[in-house]
Amino acid sequence: MIVAAGRGARAGGQMPKQWRPLAGRRVIDWTLAAFAAHPAVGRIVLVLAPQDMGLGESLAADPKITIAAGGATRGASVRAGLEALEGAGTQKVLIHDVARPCISRALIDRVIAALQDTPGAAPALAVTDALWTGADGQVTGTRDRSGLFRAQTPQGFDFPAILAAHRRDDGQASDDVEVARRAGLAVTIVEGEESNLKITHPGDFARAEAIVKEQQMKVRFGNGYDVHRFGPGDHVTLCGVKIAHERGLMGHSDADVAMHAITDALYGALAEGDIGQHFPPSDPQWKGAASRIFLEHAMARVAARGLKVANIDCTLVCEHPKIGPHAIEMRQHMSKITGIEMENISIKATTSEGLGFTGRGEGIAALATAALVAA
Ligand code: MG
Repeated sequence: MIVAAGRGARAGGQMPKQWRPLAGRRVIDWTLAAFAAHPAVGRIVLVLAPQDMGLGESLAADPKITIAAGGATRGASVRAGLEALEGAGTQKVLIHDVARPCISRALIDRVIAALQDTPGAAPALAVTDALWTGADGQVTGTRDRSGLFRAQTPQGFDFPAILAAHRRDDGQASDDVEVARRAGLAVTIVEGEESNLKITHPGDFARAEAIVKEQQMKVRFGNGYDVHRFGPGDHVTLCGVKIAHERGLMGHSDADVAMHAITDALYGALAEGDIGQHFPPSDPQWKGAASRIFLEHAMARVAARGLKVANIDCTLVCEHPKIGPHAIEMRQHMSKITGIEMENISIKATTSEGLGFTGRGEGIAALATAALVAA
């Protein structure tokens, strides 16, 4: 649930902060994208002020997003959002302030992981600055900071429990952890992030913009390497293209060594294992499987992580068959499967000067590199 019904008067500007631009999109778009890209998020309920319904119209086109009308207080708005989720088999809910657009996937992961063992989990940062009391510009005292935390969102809960708690609550709580605790629910603290700031004052826009830009600029690289041995046959399949040859490649699937290396480069860039982990060779259902199944799965994982492929480079190592005459067709085929522009897919080849297993013509090796950037 993204709570976006507030008016945010402290942030200045002509319209509420969630509708104001931030690094080329609106604040609300960044916040929604962070959750929409998360594979564990099945539905998003977006709570808007009744007068903002027109602004949110385009967002409702996403089938994952449901829009609910908020109430006069934050508590009433959250309650409205929870009621909108009821009856849909919802088991867990994360409640997030729209004004925290820099939320990272890692932080969402931590809250979800903690919810496995507790009815409530929320991120916070331990207070490290000294604390004073003050009046009229003068320090009037000090406070012990030990055991004090700065609360953040998303605050995660067992859905039926937090719905029941909100139904009983008077709507005056400052956040959902307070509502949960009043109802007797335990709430685990998970490590928050300084970058998960809440846009509150005018100067926070510049800080948030710097953070989302840095997140966007991150590039992830992965490499892949694969070898298949020659055996009886009359063709090899490389990047999905059948190439006539006096021998074939042996393997559990269709032995497309190039596509395997590229697929492993994608898994590698995500730090999500390799083909063998997702499609175990011990599992007979992958015997003779077309390698595009593996590639399509890796591409779906890339998209699910909110990323896209910037480019792929693959080198085949063999004496025969000659790759050059087929390279364009291989790139075309890879482009068709993945949707990546052909100009961003490189397929090239080298011999190993007669040395080693590739030089002796015992098999083909493939190396691949993939670069991923924010989608
Ligand atoms: Mg292989």
